[in-house]
Amino acid sequence: MTSPTPACWYCGREPAVEARADRFDLYGNLGKNPAGQVTYQTTTVRIPRCAACASAHNREGCLSVLAFLVGGLLGVLAYMALSQWIAEVTGWATFIWWLMIGFGAAGGAVGIGLASPLAKKLLGNRRSGTASSEYAPIRELLDGGWKQGTRPKAR
Ligand SMILES: [Zn+2]
Repeated sequence: MTSPTPACWYCGREPAVEARADRFDLYGNLGKNPAGQVTYQTTTVRIPRCAACASAHNREGCLSVLAFLVGGLLGVLAYMALSQWIAEVTGWATFIWWLMIGFGAAGGAVGIGLASPLAKKLLGNRRSGTASSEYAPIRELLDGGWKQGTRPKAR
């Protein structure tokens, strides 16, 4: 018992499996070197996770992608029907692409919202794969000004 296996953070029941640990990339300590280039540090926090939680998170990810695609497609179809109808009623036949993208994105968001009870059921008693930022060591870094990601956003 020199290095006891930590329990999975997501369910708190199963022992964590090293290969299925979740990873969370952060960067911080932004500064500038004498040449004026942005400097920063990066770190990756590993979150202990068991095999069951890892595969539940995979399914959760697939479900939200699917929900977004189906919802987005319905949003696009709704916009196409709407623009068709407006064109017939008003004779205004302009098809606005960014409105269609807006409808698609909104539909996707609604799709994810509608699928969330399903995702909860799928997850059961474990934390969501998107809850990683609540893991205490990550929370501390975020509170200390670190940001999620592998590098600062280019401006
Ligand atoms: Zn677990």
